[in-house]
Amino acid sequence: MKYDKVRNFINGEFLKSESRESLEVTSPIDGNLLSEVPLSTVGELNRAVASAKVAFKDWSEAPIKERVQIFFRYRHLLEKYSDELTELVSEENGKTLDEARAEVDKSIELTEFACSMPQLVSGEILEVSKGVECRTEHFPLGVVASIVPFNFPLMVPNWTMPNALVLGNTMIMKPSELVPLSVQRMAEILTEAGLPKGVFNVVNGAKEVVEGICTHPDIEAVSFVGSTKVAKIVYRQATNSLKRCIALGGAKNHLFVLPDANPEMTASNVAASMSGCAGQRCMAASAMLAVGDVRTIIEKVCEEAKKIVPGENLGAVISKEAKQRIEGYITEAEEQGARVLVDGRRARVRGKENGTYVGPTVIDGVTPDMAVAKEEIFGPVISIIRADDVDQAIEIENANPYGNAAAVFTQSGGLARYIIERASAGMIGVNIGVPVPREPFSFGGWNESRFGANDITGKSSIEFWTKLKKTTTKWNPEARTNWMS
Ligand code: NAD
Repeated sequence: MKYDKVRNFINGEFLKSESRESLEVTSPIDGNLLSEVPLSTVGELNRAVASAKVAFKDWSEAPIKERVQIFFRYRHLLEKYSDELTELVSEENGKTLDEARAEVDKSIELTEFACSMPQLVSGEILEVSKGVECRTEHFPLGVVASIVPFNFPLMVPNWTMPNALVLGNTMIMKPSELVPLSVQRMAEILTEAGLPKGVFNVVNGAKEVVEGICTHPDIEAVSFVGSTKVAKIVYRQATNSLKRCIALGGAKNHLFVLPDANPEMTASNVAASMSGCAGQRCMAASAMLAVGDVRTIIEKVCEEAKKIVPGENLGAVISKEAKQRIEGYITEAEEQGARVLVDGRRARVRGKENGTYVGPTVIDGVTPDMAVAKEEIFGPVISIIRADDVDQAIEIENANPYGNAAAVFTQSGGLARYIIERASAGMIGVNIGVPVPREPFSFGGWNESRFGANDITGKSSIEFWTKLKKTTTKWNPEARTNWMS
């Protein structure tokens, strides 16, 4: 085992779990054993919440300009340890080093946004009657929780942690049991940056810890990122316990490709969008709506896909089960009459025979009723669905229950606008296959890709992580009072 068994981080200390149950953490790149992760007990969760509750008093009372200083240092340390973090993210998740480095860079950008919070959260003040003023202030909620998925072991934890903490909350994080090492390192780096004990806590585990979080009386808010199936469970449990909750779920992102699209730019974008991070991105292109005659573009997409080589510029998928699931989707579509133009099944990387690789796959002739057209595959697979016109393509996109992202490839501003207005997705790209809104814009989908109000990052997250206090003040007795104030 390359690393020691993963520890929980409670009240500023790295503690061995008392649980006897644990899971192996293996690298998808070569199947090698990296570590073991404990399935912690609810008792350990309770201790973490108790420490976060105690820490909340001093942390929330410190002025935001003081709290933010720690995150300037944290940002600097992320940059200092960038090479090491890049390797760790790649090792435990299976993505390429370039993709892992982008994840570290994005974590830095997220932290920079959190560092700008003092400029964003100053309240409002107005004289509402003669001599009477009303002002608003953002107050932290208390102990909050963040439950994160496997596909971005460092970036998604940094979607929530810096903003929530800078705004004065204390936090319990539950990492994905498949990739717990990056969050453990994050806790070490936060300690080095000077974060007081108890402000950030990590409890490793799976379902039991998540259920404990959703029902814990001292946790005020829960953020969740993961599959729609679990997002629904978490959203229901947390709100049933009267907590504030945002739960981001899975995705099925559609790319509208119109005949006037630039062939080279479109083909390279489509191929990169469906295969980046081995297709394990909630923003990945999954279905291509080929409107009218786009034969040349499809040929070029296949050419681009063939340049993507497992083990070189394509990482591994997370597990053997994921590989089987993805290949199963391809085989089922083929059996139902679809044509596999580029086939990523049976991918092997020499010297990494135990790695879990799936090559880039392009499937044509997919009909809207097939599973590859409807469900989230979460692998480097694009399903091409033909549409006679833009309205038919919009109808297909709208019928899908998810709504994370969509993109349109065209040179016509008018057609792009027509699709932007009608696509049922929270994040839209025009000639951009992965339309992630960069800070200060917020990240969040629609429909079954997100439950709860607000988005999870950017300015929208301020509303989620704080509550607004409205104070009405009158000092001078001579000020005339009317029935309003
Ligand atoms: P997952 O839903 O299996 O797991 C997410 C978290 O929930 C993990 O921490 C896991 O331990 C926990 N969990 C799993 N099963 C549970 C259960 N039955 N009860 C309670 N907790 C449970 O998701 P994943 O496989 O880790 O991540 C991939 C999914 O996440 C994909 O569907 C992807 O689209 C989605 N995702 C969405 C976004 C977004 O912004 N919408 C971002 C990243 C990933």
